[in-house]
Amino acid sequence: SMIENRPDLTIRLCGPRGFCAGVDRAIQIVVLALKAYGAPVYVRHEIVHNRYVVEGLEAKGAIFVEELDEIPEEHRQQPVVFSAHGVPKSVPADAEARNLFYLDATCPLVSKVHKQAMRHQRLGRHVVLIGHAGHPEVIGTMGQLPEGSVSLVETVEDADRYVPPDPDNLGFVTQTTLSVDDTAGVIKRLHERFPNLTAPAADSICYATTNRQEAVKQAAPGCDLFLIVGAPNSSNSKRLVEVALRAGAAKSVLVQRASEIDWETIGDIRTVGLSAGASAPEVIVNEIIEAFRARYNAVVELADTVEENEHFLVNRELRSIELTSA
Ligand code: SF4
Repeated sequence: SMIENRPDLTIRLCGPRGFCAGVDRAIQIVVLALKAYGAPVYVRHEIVHNRYVVEGLEAKGAIFVEELDEIPEEHRQQPVVFSAHGVPKSVPADAEARNLFYLDATCPLVSKVHKQAMRHQRLGRHVVLIGHAGHPEVIGTMGQLPEGSVSLVETVEDADRYVPPDPDNLGFVTQTTLSVDDTAGVIKRLHERFPNLTAPAADSICYATTNRQEAVKQAAPGCDLFLIVGAPNSSNSKRLVEVALRAGAAKSVLVQRASEIDWETIGDIRTVGLSAGASAPEVIVNEIIEAFRARYNAVVELADTVEENEHFLVNRELRSIELTSA
């Protein structure tokens, strides 16, 4: 039969994968705001870095803008939601100045990093932020403090070159979605140069980033191909591709939908690793498994590491709606 002619394939499906508690909460905030206040609900920046999620919310009546001045005068009574990545302090201040009603969907773990950065500053330390220039989370974290009080360090080379205002009064925080291994290298180098560098009270890299990277690391050896479901602007998804390659996958690719898989160049494969970034919905993981099933005699092997039980409550204003709709 046709089925017997298909090549055999093992799909190593990593767990934990996909949505984290912060992404889940941010999406809930937009959905609940639409229920409570009706369309349109404005969202500043992609609520999470995923086209599929953004388009799904647009279909329900969300309107995505990059800046608050894009919200038309006649809709100033409608809520505006700030994305999970966090915003500089100037953004809520600007919203208040414009008399806008805002709901902050910043992940509580990003807010925790903001608090750690402010704590360093309160204790007289200049803040070193380890992260990727231009990422909205980095812009948000830098924007918690007055200009000039945070220095961005991206790489070990940056750490080598960095000239602090006072080498004995430094504290660091990091972006939540960095590579665990690369960041350890950057911190190590900074510590070698500045022995009095103070760490934040709690790790900045979040549980979801850590767990997804660890699961990919364990599943990667022996994989002919490792697919990561995620968007090209999703920091944590891009890191998973790097982790897969470094841990021994022969090839690794970021894909947003099954239709992006280039079947012509896939070649002879027996084992495919599969995971998804924290902003990638499970329906796309299933879509990709089905696409392989249509071409291969595919068996899905679960490669689970730890169990995640994190859940973050939505904003107080929306909790009663969450309860009545549950
Ligand atoms: Fe929060 Fe981590 Fe998810 Fe970012 S990846 S939204 S910090 S839980």
